[in-house]
Amino acid sequence: MPRNQPHVSRETSHAGDPGAFVDTPIAAAAARASEILTPGGTPPLPHPPQPRILTVANQKGGVGKTTTAVNLAAALAIHGLRVLVVDLDPQGNASTALGIDHRQPGLVSVYELLLGDADLASAIKQSPAHENLYCVPATLDLAGAEIELVSLVARENRLRNALSRDALAQFGFDYVFIDCPPSLGLLTVNAMVAAREVLIPIQCEYYALEGVSQLLRNIELVQAHLNRELQVSTVLLTMYDGRTKLADQVAEEVRRHFGDKVLKTIVPRSVKVSEAPGFGMTIIDYDPGSRGAMSYVDAARELAMAGAPAAR
Ligand code: ADP
Ligand code: MG
Repeated sequence: MPRNQPHVSRETSHAGDPGAFVDTPIAAAAARASEILTPGGTPPLPHPPQPRILTVANQKGGVGKTTTAVNLAAALAIHGLRVLVVDLDPQGNASTALGIDHRQPGLVSVYELLLGDADLASAIKQSPAHENLYCVPATLDLAGAEIELVSLVARENRLRNALSRDALAQFGFDYVFIDCPPSLGLLTVNAMVAAREVLIPIQCEYYALEGVSQLLRNIELVQAHLNRELQVSTVLLTMYDGRTKLADQVAEEVRRHFGDKVLKTIVPRSVKVSEAPGFGMTIIDYDPGSRGAMSYVDAARELAMAGAPAAR
């Protein structure tokens, strides 16, 4: 397949596969679900030699940051990798999607972690979705943190210190995804200082690249002053609507700009994907046979197989 060809999912790939003969949509969905949920049938994904910490950032809201963070995390978890999602958005959408009630009183969250009032061990919650999947939830307290952090010592390094190599090793994490709020404030800066990689989800819509240059400038500032190791490793095109010419044009433009950092897999726009968080679930759990789930499984595989980028 040519590199630039959108590779939305393997939806039709079973058609020529004699081992998975399916002739009704439900049977096809069930076959795909079993393929996803029993990853023994597919080659295992490698454990990275060191935990990979990825910040999922784009200061535009609604581009699929949270959806991408939780679904890539869930897809890696079902492949046997241990994954942590750090919810850094006061809205707590990632926590919700991972089945964690972030409104329960007394919940130790990322807020306490940033302020140094709790350590990673007490802020981590296991997702009911999978034994390998964990979350540091966000509560509404986090909305005030941006201001409270300003007066603290090492205010940009708070998350990095909390996610130290020792702390991550204690849990054997392979991947950490940090789900950023839709702004470039101190919370996002903390995420960029804590990570080595930035993953940028880009929506296949009008103005998709608007704001991305500002994001890239901020990343350069962080590289220059706070975290030399940071680099944009991955771009994921989301909410692709194959019926529109525009979506293809956006995809092409993003590929011209970011080259092979753009994953071949494109996440399609799908109602199922948007329904899942309402049930406190990832799409991988909610409807594992769906195109949305398949695309995130494919994207996770690409991410894992590509490995961490070489040091800058
Ligand atoms: P962000 O975190 O960047 O604000 P979200 O991940 O919350 O973006 O996505 C914004 C909205 O779009 C949410 O309602 C989400 O459920 C929905 N959404 C995300 N990805 C898809 C998709 N592939 N298809 C349909 N809806 C999606
Ligand atoms: Mg979000």
